[in-house]
Amino acid sequence: MTVTALFAGLPGRAVVIENVGVWQVSWMQTTDSTSYSKNFTAAEQTAIKNSLLTWDNLIGDTPVRQVQLQLGWSALGAGVLGQSSNPLLGNYTTAYTFTELTWREAYSFSPSSYGYNSDAAITFGTGISWYTGSGSPGGGEIDLASVALHEIGHTLGFTSSYNNATDKWSNVGITTWDSYLRDVNGNQPLANSTGTPGNFAAINSTNPVTFVGVNATAVNSGINPGVFTSTGTGYMGGSSLVHVNYPSDPMYYATYYGAVNRTPSALDLAILKDLGWTIVPEPAMAMLLLVSGTLLLRSRQRRPPETGH
Ligand SMILES: [Zn+2]
Repeated sequence: MTVTALFAGLPGRAVVIENVGVWQVSWMQTTDSTSYSKNFTAAEQTAIKNSLLTWDNLIGDTPVRQVQLQLGWSALGAGVLGQSSNPLLGNYTTAYTFTELTWREAYSFSPSSYGYNSDAAITFGTGISWYTGSGSPGGGEIDLASVALHEIGHTLGFTSSYNNATDKWSNVGITTWDSYLRDVNGNQPLANSTGTPGNFAAINSTNPVTFVGVNATAVNSGINPGVFTSTGTGYMGGSSLVHVNYPSDPMYYATYYGAVNRTPSALDLAILKDLGWTIVPEPAMAMLLLVSGTLLLRSRQRRPPETGH
């Protein structure tokens, strides 16, 4: 396919590199870049590796090479637990994360040929009381494995090329996820457009958006699953349009102190199936504990340049 690079480069490659399942993980150290403010502990690495392997065990596709993933710690915004950065490549119709291309689409390329040092980068927020064990987090703790699972989910395709500043989807293409979005009037995303047949509804809590994939709808009792739009204040960068709208789901935009979501839901897996992934039978579901307090899980969607193409 014809591909066009988006976005500026990710930070430099770490010295500490480890293969974990299909991934080639770069554990970014403070000595690698001033972007990173803390090194990983062994317990943190174990928790994250468990989530990487959980996804790996659920996906039957074979990547054309190891998926290059940079992981690091940084001070994120207040209440932000994690961020994933996913460059997109597109053919002016459809845009893909590098992870989708490498792992699912069997497209052979090097991130460096587009100015990147990895296929994806995930940053975890410092200043949080992280729980790294395999039991239950305390009431004031956030489960690191659960947040890692969520952020990895974005690299697998829970992402959009919508640009709120222009109210358009990227000229490079819409993501496969985008292709399943419908607003309350049936409008859908279209590359380099505000939507088709009409302008996709303004993003707010009174304009429900649904995901119309057949697998996702089947596991949701025949109803198109809801997509998170807003808490009522309009478009939320990194949160709107890239999450499901079910608070107990691992791919909801927020989580809670004490919550455990170390396994994708049946809905998450069905969505991935709609995106084109091969899903192998899932294990038993993880238990969810809901405690008061809301913290954000953000997918930092870097914006493509508007090239006028
Ligand atoms: Zn997210």
